[in-house]
Amino acid sequence: EETIKQLREENELSDQEYNMYFQSIHYIESTRDKIILSIPSRFIQSQLKQRYNAIIETRLFELSGIELTLDFEIENRKKDQEKTQSQETESPEIQEKAYEPHPQLREDYTFDNFVVGNNNSFAANASRAIAENPGSKYNPCLIYGGVGLGKTHLMQSIGNSIHKHKPDMKVVYIPAETFINDFIESINTKKQTHFKNKYRNADILLIDDIHDLQDKKGTQEELFHTFNALYDANKQMVFTCDRPPSELKNFADRLKNRFVRGLNVDLHPPNYETRYAILRKKLEDRNVAISEDILELISENINTNIRDLEAALTSIVAYAELVQKEITPEIAKQQLKQFFSSPIQTNITIDKIQKQVSEYFNVTLSDMKGKKRTKQITFPRQIAMFIIREITDYSTTEIGLEFGGRDHTTVMHSCQRIEDRIKTDSTIEPTVQELIRSIKET
Ligand code: ADP
Ligand code: MG
Repeated sequence: EETIKQLREENELSDQEYNMYFQSIHYIESTRDKIILSIPSRFIQSQLKQRYNAIIETRLFELSGIELTLDFEIENRKKDQEKTQSQETESPEIQEKAYEPHPQLREDYTFDNFVVGNNNSFAANASRAIAENPGSKYNPCLIYGGVGLGKTHLMQSIGNSIHKHKPDMKVVYIPAETFINDFIESINTKKQTHFKNKYRNADILLIDDIHDLQDKKGTQEELFHTFNALYDANKQMVFTCDRPPSELKNFADRLKNRFVRGLNVDLHPPNYETRYAILRKKLEDRNVAISEDILELISENINTNIRDLEAALTSIVAYAELVQKEITPEIAKQQLKQFFSSPIQTNITIDKIQKQVSEYFNVTLSDMKGKKRTKQITFPRQIAMFIIREITDYSTTEIGLEFGGRDHTTVMHSCQRIEDRIKTDSTIEPTVQELIRSIKET
């Protein structure tokens, strides 16, 4: 013990380091070649081993002349807690309890990881307000919107935030489907009281995907009573749904009315800027270099939802990691083909539109696709791109390819040109409409 004390004094450790790693170490016993120390956590153990083991062992050797190794034992929790209580005032910083993640929530579904854009700012702000003051204002809250737009992420962010900052509150998160299964099982096993208590004792009840309760009369009934109990006790409830509640089928009206009683917020698909920002965010803690072009390419072409956006990114990242090669736009396009929205079944092809537009303007098809940049050619070319964008599902990347391998940004630019001109020149819109009509008719 004396050795350790000396060691502490002699070691050149800052106060902070000492407090953090050494203060809570206690001597347990020593054998001929070993010293056993008690330490508070595995975290401290790994820190000590990585940072100080070598120094300490050298010092011990210098002091004692014997080669001694260190061995650690982690204090058991109970003792630790007792100590925490009795030593509270002495050194609060080392006694902070290790954060225990919530068993039902994904740790990465946090507000910090949620990119706010104009498509979701209402929902995001409401969620933050709820996390700060659960039960008081927006109760219940219903978040609705299509698949992959961030409902679960937001809902779990509320849960994670409350779990972290208000650890005494009991947060219960459950997908509606699990709620249904639990309910049915509780009946079969005659454990209904247990089931009821589990949900009615919650301080925060988060039920994900309530559209799954459609057709489930019994569970709806049960949730109705749970709702009332929690509502009367001012407990916060949040629900998500993939459609506006008015579109729920086979759903008890009285329960539907309860859902919409508080705050209703909806999520929309993200715009280009938000998609780009989300991709950036998702790349933050991954150790791969994906160039701006590629991020733009993905953001431009994948506009369905964020789940698809992530899937595309994951596929590109995996490719980059496995092939260890820089991703060029060509490789990316090839890799992403499956993700780009496929044109709906239609007889309207890019080729058809190009032909009709060039006929109308009396330019050749090869000029239309070619490099010439005279006014007589560029205008029809822009009109063709604009129309393709208007009436088909081809992505700007695919369109670019059909115009002599032009870049998707060129296509975007061209469409923008026409849009601008429509605003200032009243003859253009009728021309476009006439062309569209004749393309659809033939
Ligand atoms: P939903 O529940 O609406 O189907 P999710 O919450 O599961 O959608 O979101 C799908 C994926 O997209 C998740 O991986 C989520 O982290 C991510 N995501 C959605 N919105 C955002 C956002 N605004 N910022 C960052 N990631 C998001
Ligand atoms: Mg979800």
